[in-house]
Amino acid sequence: MLCLHDSIRHDDPTVQCLLRAVEHAHALTALILAAWQVARVLTVHLVEAVLAERARRPLSWPPCPACGASLRSKGCAARQVTSLFGPIQWRRRVGRCPRGCVIPPVAPLDEALGVQPHQRTSGELQSLGCALAVFMPFATAAQLLGWYSGSTVSPRAVWCGVQAAGPRAMEQLHEQLQALAQGHLPPEEPLAAELATAPLLMGADGVMVPFRPEGGSPRGQTAWHEVQGGVLARLGQHRTRTGQVVPRLAHRRLVAVLGGIEALQARLWLEAVRQGILHASQVVWLSDGARGLWHLFEECFTAYATGLLDFYHAAQQLWKSAAAWLDGRTTQARRWLGWARHRLRHGQPDGGLADVAEALEVERLPETTRDTLRTVAAYLERHREPMHYETYKALGLPLGSGMVASACTWLIQQRFKGVGMRWSEDGFNHLLHLRLAWVNGSFETLFQVQLQPSPNK
Ligand SMILES: [Zn+2]
Repeated sequence: MLCLHDSIRHDDPTVQCLLRAVEHAHALTALILAAWQVARVLTVHLVEAVLAERARRPLSWPPCPACGASLRSKGCAARQVTSLFGPIQWRRRVGRCPRGCVIPPVAPLDEALGVQPHQRTSGELQSLGCALAVFMPFATAAQLLGWYSGSTVSPRAVWCGVQAAGPRAMEQLHEQLQALAQGHLPPEEPLAAELATAPLLMGADGVMVPFRPEGGSPRGQTAWHEVQGGVLARLGQHRTRTGQVVPRLAHRRLVAVLGGIEALQARLWLEAVRQGILHASQVVWLSDGARGLWHLFEECFTAYATGLLDFYHAAQQLWKSAAAWLDGRTTQARRWLGWARHRLRHGQPDGGLADVAEALEVERLPETTRDTLRTVAAYLERHREPMHYETYKALGLPLGSGMVASACTWLIQQRFKGVGMRWSEDGFNHLLHLRLAWVNGSFETLFQVQLQPSPNK
């Protein structure tokens, strides 16, 4: 049985000093912060006491990895890691080969504790550092960690934590994609009962991200690269304070990849299977007119999902044609647009389409106007099917792809496009995959720690 007396002595002068600070603190905040210092010292004492006790236990030495002879102790050596509560130190036995093989020192206690040979920070500090880095610049994350741990944490240490954990997340994804390519479908993620019958919405969007031109070197002009993002969510319902029922995205899952739409395809399909595309009562693909994304939809999802073209985007195309064709005749343009938009909204794009086609027949039309009209006509023709807005409105579905597009934008914009930020490919990828793990609820499994306290304790 662990006893506090063994690990912390009340006559220890450093503890006495901290206790006095608690006693003399005036304001409540100062009192709490002073008591926190005691708690921190107490934690370190407790952990070190347990480690010291474990180091004294007899142990059976493993065989030498080179020759198989049983290792022998070459005495005790000190070990230290930085923890959330400051530095933790312990001494433990280190073994070596009796036949003199050149092998790295073996410390069975460290192995039992899950501490890697070159690890300098403990797991809870690493995962907290990564969690903060998912949302804020490395320097800010380091400063916050420093406040909490009562020691100095460098931005570089936080960055290193991300570079160590990011590849783990990427490796996991890679394995899942490989399994999928071999025909092994991933299990579906469990859903809350009220969402099981809700429509599954999905969509994708591209965002540009600033990169360093040459790998890690900060010199030279910024190179902008496209990142593809995809989102899957259930269309849940939310009652506002005034009692109004409004649609709201629930169980949101994001995918993203640095690269073209082809790179997104497998990732989006993997997540779609996980989110129940094969069994959902209704699946809707929401998108603006971006051609590559519609191509992706047609390639992969038409068998399961209905496409819905962003209404506002379609209406904007109508406006473009009106502006070109009825140039200068503003009242007439506005009247026509109002009529065509209304028809579109009620699932009858044909009238507007016919007018645009007719306008194209007019002789002596300026080439630029003709080009615009031709583009709009092709656009509306291509998306004739995904424009049944009447039906969607009746189902309570949003007419715009904004909910979907903003999720993709948020994922990238919020963290990767701050003032002066420029990324290396690895640096970006590692952080991106941690960010995805966080928003998709798999962050803690990635670190095998539980940062969130259990509710029933
Ligand atoms: Zn050996």
